[in-house]
Amino acid sequence: MAKPGRARGMLVSARADLCQLEGYHSPQIEVAVRLNTNESPYPPPERWRDELLEALSSVQLHRYPDRDATALREAIGDLHGVGPEQIFCANGSNEVIQSLDLAYGGPGRSVALFEPTYAMHRHIAVNTSSAVATGRRQEDFSLDLSEIARVARESQPALTFLCSPNNPTGNADSLAEIQEAAAVVPGLLVVDEAYGQFAPRSALPLVAAGSPLVVLRTFSKTWALAGLRLGYLVGPAEVVKSLERVALPYHLDAVKQVAGKLALSYSAEMQERVSLIAEQRDKLMAALDELPVRYWHSDANFILFRPERVEGHKVWEMLLDRSVLIRDCSSWPGLQGCLRVTVGTPDENSVFLNALEDCIL
Ligand code: PMP
Repeated sequence: MAKPGRARGMLVSARADLCQLEGYHSPQIEVAVRLNTNESPYPPPERWRDELLEALSSVQLHRYPDRDATALREAIGDLHGVGPEQIFCANGSNEVIQSLDLAYGGPGRSVALFEPTYAMHRHIAVNTSSAVATGRRQEDFSLDLSEIARVARESQPALTFLCSPNNPTGNADSLAEIQEAAAVVPGLLVVDEAYGQFAPRSALPLVAAGSPLVVLRTFSKTWALAGLRLGYLVGPAEVVKSLERVALPYHLDAVKQVAGKLALSYSAEMQERVSLIAEQRDKLMAALDELPVRYWHSDANFILFRPERVEGHKVWEMLLDRSVLIRDCSSWPGLQGCLRVTVGTPDENSVFLNALEDCIL
């Protein structure tokens, strides 16, 4: 095992195998139009804000929060028609992923994923010393069941991650494919549905006691609450129990618990936002039809595209010069020359489209 080295007068060196996150993080640059991190372009409802401020006045901040986050988990469970024992909450769904890797991955175990997909599935696996077994999606980014079977057979993963709709490609997997994948993987199948409410189908109905399938959701996208840092898992109660064993004591602060529960009583307003964004997404795709770009159909709140006449990274830079920030995926595995744009407000989308035309026509 590698020993922590310490040259004279130096701090101890960190593990050399830790993931370099610089390559992943989206730059936080001040721009007029920010369409790079798939957030909601709309703030949460004003009434939610007012109610939250009022509710906070009775939160006892000198006390630790409810360690089990019971009220919040009950409310999320009600939303999905399951009990609180089937819900695990954490500080964003990234922390749910980390908890899964800590509980089920780690040294001597492997985590499977299918590229191109959400980069943090790999990063967090590496950082928890899990081996990563990499498979590929098909050319059109749909799942390749024989590839899933191959990776499962060769690597016997303790965890297999799917992402539906898949970030950054935008396509949602079919339920039949997800079911078939669950049948061939030896460990837990994790379906990351960070963008689930934008999609025409969800794997949530496949969650059942004794079935090795869990679904991840977040408040960061459809619930317009990326700043709150709240995500959760819906799965069998025994999985939730295992995750509780690796969660830090009181990891969900009292403010988050109140704010998250309150947000759930605004589901009609949130749904309205989802519909508006989905409508804008479809308009954006129709506009891209008229431009020299290839794009992939999206079931999410972002669109992956590849400019045909000008190199992708160059277009990203030219857009930035016009104060429009999107995501540069051009160097990601299997995505040569590709860019990803988050669906914004109608105004933001038209600024983006005008700037894009300016760059590529
Ligand atoms: N899963 C996917 C597929 C994502 O795109 C993201 C956000 N980029 C997350 C999980 C993490 O979201 P959060 O930690 O904000 O819940």
